[in-house]
Amino acid sequence: APGRKTLPLLPGSTLGVMGGGQLGRMFVHAAQATGYFTAVLDPDPDSPAGRISHHHLHADYLDSDALGRLSRLADAVTTEFENVPAQALATLAGDVPVAPAADAVAIAQDRIREKAHFVRCSAASGIGCAPYAVIENADHLAAVSADLLPGILKTARMGYDGKGQQGVQTLAELAAAWEATGRVPCVLEKRLPLALECSVIVARGHDGQAVHFPPQRNLHRGGILAVTEVHDQALPPAVAARGVEAARAIAEGIGYVGVLCVEFFMLEDGSLVANEMAPRPHNSGHYTMDACDISQFDLQVRTLAGLPLVTPRQHSPAIMLNLLGDLWFAEGSDQQRDPAWAQVLALPGTHLHLYGKTEARRGRKMGHLNITGADVAGVRAAAAQAAALLG
Ligand code: ADP
Ligand code: MG
Repeated sequence: APGRKTLPLLPGSTLGVMGGGQLGRMFVHAAQATGYFTAVLDPDPDSPAGRISHHHLHADYLDSDALGRLSRLADAVTTEFENVPAQALATLAGDVPVAPAADAVAIAQDRIREKAHFVRCSAASGIGCAPYAVIENADHLAAVSADLLPGILKTARMGYDGKGQQGVQTLAELAAAWEATGRVPCVLEKRLPLALECSVIVARGHDGQAVHFPPQRNLHRGGILAVTEVHDQALPPAVAARGVEAARAIAEGIGYVGVLCVEFFMLEDGSLVANEMAPRPHNSGHYTMDACDISQFDLQVRTLAGLPLVTPRQHSPAIMLNLLGDLWFAEGSDQQRDPAWAQVLALPGTHLHLYGKTEARRGRKMGHLNITGADVAGVRAAAAQAAALLG
């Protein structure tokens, strides 16, 4: 459009973000620290990012007036929430640079397309995904091979933190589980023997240049990320190297621009498979805020603004503890109270990040605690003490 700024967008420009959750909040912090103005679109008038942004549009993601206002306010727009309708990003892209592109987000939003992308990239990435079948109708269901059992039925859309997933042992259980979804499109995945889970964050610029962060080892509890560790004892070096190559190929394969996280499983036989990807910074990348010389949010700003990317350097071993709302309740009590922050912050190398959510709920992501230090043993000791204090 006439009067549009060209890339690179320098500080003083306005960066927009679709979604006002904690990832948007940390993007806004990074953008503002570098001297950008920010605009957030989120339906919630009290969203974590909206509350700290220069501009906050509270409207539905597909509200065409709000999208028009956002594209006039912002010089470029990104997303922080993978379920922002890809159509909203496509609409914005008619007026303003958008990264990641609607097409890339649409692939990541749909497990069927996402797995097809992993399969398509497997020659370049060196890895595939778990054996799976697409179930979109009764014929697909009837054709499922028992080789995929025991398996996990996952809804193709809108799943996160283990939501939308059902373990199934038999074909009869599978049929019942698919009924229970309301017969929405799903994938059935074979349940694999996991030795560990890891993820890799890549940032790729408009010019195709890509950089990555050191791979994370992740521990989930109840389908939600609980702990991330990044240090030289966290992952076998060969696994880390294969993960990096695969994540870069997966980003390259869709001409991705922005920050992308790819999650992997390492199986008991040492092989690696791609699990899913997120078209944005990722919970497992929060360690970068305190353990690296540039964070995943800084790189989100740079990829969006078209600024140079530099290879991140991790300067400290790191452990991240996710802080779920459960920690705000003493055992057996419904009374919300503050966790033992003063004691936790007395431990060496603790960095507390809270997302400004006033109401704690069990399973709700309230913040995270990064722990850094001179050596792995010290970081592990502090993490164990912090976990004990938080109970
Ligand atoms: P979400 O979108 O909820 O993160 P994932 O597909 O990553 O969905 O699944 C959540 C967790 O469930 C994974 O991190 C892993 O621990 C477990 N899981 C998922 N798929 C499999 C599988 N095929 N085999 C074994 N465990 C799995
Ligand atoms: Mg996952």
